[in-house]
Order: sequence, then C-alpha cells, then structure tokens
Amino acid sequence: MIKMNRWLKDFSSLLFPNLCNACTLPLFQGERVICTKCLYDLPYTDYHLHGENRVAKQLWGRISLNAAMSMLYFRKGSKVQNLIHNLKYNQKTDVGVFLGELLGGRLLLNETYTDIDLIIPVPLHHKKLRKRGYNQSTYIAEGLSKKMSIPYTENNLLRIKSTESQTHKNRYNRYENMKDVFKVADFEKIRTKHILLTDDVLTTGATLEACAVELLSQGASKISIATLAFAE
Ligand SMILES: [Zn+2]
Repeated sequence: MIKMNRWLKDFSSLLFPNLCNACTLPLFQGERVICTKCLYDLPYTDYHLHGENRVAKQLWGRISLNAAMSMLYFRKGSKVQNLIHNLKYNQKTDVGVFLGELLGGRLLLNETYTDIDLIIPVPLHHKKLRKRGYNQSTYIAEGLSKKMSIPYTENNLLRIKSTESQTHKNRYNRYENMKDVFKVADFEKIRTKHILLTDDVLTTGATLEACAVELLSQGASKISIATLAFAE
C-alpha cells in the first residue's frame, strides 16, 4: 500500500509537478518551494553577520534602530525577483513562510536579534488587502515566528492611508508622503517591547521608517528590521 501511494504520488507529480518558485524546474521529492540548486545559488548578503551593512547604513540618522538587515540582493530578472513575484502576485504564500524561516535561521546567529519580543509585518491598506487577498509580509512573519519561537501579530500596526509609490520622490517628499500612514491600535501590547519589523523588499526604506516612527512613538523600546531582500 505504501508502495502504491508512493507510486501514485510520483505519477501525479509527473502530471502536476511542483515547480521551483525561483527557476520553474520541477522539484524533486523532499524539496519544497525552492530547488536545492537555487537555494544554494541565491545571492545571499550575509548582512546578519555585519552590523554596519548597507541596509543599516541606508537607515542611519533617520530613525533609532537596534539593527537592520536584508537576506538577499534583489535584482531585476533574477531568481529573487521570481520568488518575490510568486509570493506577492501568484498566491504562493508558502514562499513567504519558507524564506521567513530561512531569514529567522540567520537572525538566530546574531545576538543583536535574540531579545526580540514581537514580530510585526509591514501592513497593507485594507483596500489593497482586499484586492490581493492576503498580506505577503504576514507569511514572512509566520516563517520568522516559527523559526525563532517569537510571536507575531498583524492586527496591531495598521496602515490607515494608502500611498502612491515612493520610488520617484526625493527624501523629503517621501517622508511627507509617509506621514501618519501607520497607526498602532493597542499601545499596551507593544509598550517596552523590542519589535522586529519585516517586509519583502527594502527599497528606499521610507515605509519601514514610518512604521518604526509610529511604534517608537507609542512606546516600543527597540526596533529591528529584517527583510527578505534589498533592492540596490
Ligand atoms: Zn530552482
């Protein structure tokens, strides 16, 4: 019977193979979400090992952060872009959990991330959430939470304004654009807490900065930032 089940499983995977979310080749048995070769070849930053990395430096002087890092370099047309695209637009939420776990494993190696109390994903505005059906960053938070044994919450930091794209704005306009976008619903739950903010790709950092400003103003004691990727 076990043999039969195995045979049926192999047969159905011939008809409907699970594909690697990075390179689209069929996954072998035992592989999940990303094939072994892609997993090995991804452009890792190793920023978890370096406090003074480019992501942290980009945010320096803007907000007081405990630490900041991204796990992967994001380049157009790359496997990382395929992964993020599948996570955000193709309902491949398991990509978020998988990469969140991978990210969590790295954070556990650096003691600056070991006293985190709570993980919070960057929220979407409710209109966007309704359109997409899910917040991709919540799945990253779920993976981080699993790996690090730290709780996450997606109901306390709210995005109360939808905003236009940040990319073509200068620093001052980006800041103005992001003012009062986020709001903490229950400050008791974040007061004196070290919070890890997470998102898929860090580009200008303005969104994460605005989240951190709101959390700190409502009594969080420390903010750290970890994203899946960093757009250079
Ligand atoms: Zn692959």
